[in-house]
Amino acid sequence: MFIKDIYRKEKIVVSFEVFPPKREENFFSVEKTAEKLAQLQPDFISVTYGAAGEQESTNFTLRLAEKIKNNYETEPLVHLTCINSSKEQISNNIKKIKDKGISNILALRGDKVNNNEVEFLYAKDLINLLKNEDLCIGAACHPEGHPETSSEALNLLHLRQKVDQGADFLVSQMFFENSKFFDFLAKAKQLDIEVPIVAGIMPVINTRQIRKITKLCGAKIPAKFEKIMNRYQDNKLALRDAGIAYATEQIIDLLSTGVQGIHLYVMNRPDVAQKLFDNINSVVKELKVRRE
Ligand code: FAD
Repeated sequence: MFIKDIYRKEKIVVSFEVFPPKREENFFSVEKTAEKLAQLQPDFISVTYGAAGEQESTNFTLRLAEKIKNNYETEPLVHLTCINSSKEQISNNIKKIKDKGISNILALRGDKVNNNEVEFLYAKDLINLLKNEDLCIGAACHPEGHPETSSEALNLLHLRQKVDQGADFLVSQMFFENSKFFDFLAKAKQLDIEVPIVAGIMPVINTRQIRKITKLCGAKIPAKFEKIMNRYQDNKLALRDAGIAYATEQIIDLLSTGVQGIHLYVMNRPDVAQKLFDNINSVVKELKVRRE
């Protein structure tokens, strides 16, 4: 099923992200993680893609996505980056994805990790290649801007280009202040970006990891969030519970304000996903049946 049709049909769409293992011996454990996540019945599960586009890592992404589809009966969204791959490699991967019966791709640029010549400069170039492939195409958006783009206007213009090329929906980079996301939605609307814009939420469960990711992607850490990280960083359980409480508050505010899609970066932690689901379950149910 195309994910764009899920957004068309469902009032509220909740999804997860998983990342594949780096080594074969860890595949089974990640597979079990995906199975547990699927048991929570999210609308879809996305599977990340190794930044370097190396074949072994690509194979893990595709194998995991195939399992999610065929064994756990959940719609997979395969991430695909382009900057470190040749056109030929990308075309082969698209063929493999389609051969596995997968019909949703999150088209990303990725960050440059090798010195090869670049055939795809931006995600929009990959979207352009995908648009005639009978696939549903998602793309990334950056509510607080992207580190390589100095102005908000350019950030939005580049996003508009991805939608013009054929992106069917947009998944946001993580953010920790909803007001930033609401501002971004209003500005995207001014540019007539009408495709679903999905809020990416990451509950803090590992402070080192979150500091590293936010440094790379430019998401700001608000004082309230910083306090949680500083206070509980040495107690994993307390940090997890405080992080889940923070993310729950964010999600309930987003849903109450009318955001349709929530994508949860649960870092391969079904326990975190389960707790978040328990916290928002009645709210999601209420919104799903409400007539408005
Ligand atoms: P683009 O849309 O190409 O933008 C990249 C930069 O180029 C931006 O600064 C943009 O403003 C600028 N730009 C775009 N078009 C133009 C133009 N015409 N002229 C000049 N500048 C332009 N990375 C992975 O390696 N694997 C993953 O699985 C993965 N999953 C992700 C999932 C989500 C939801 C998100 C938000 C990010 C993910 N990333 C992943 C990280 C992503 O690859 C990086 O954020 C990357 O730096 C930007 O990707 P993009 O697709 O937004 O790129």
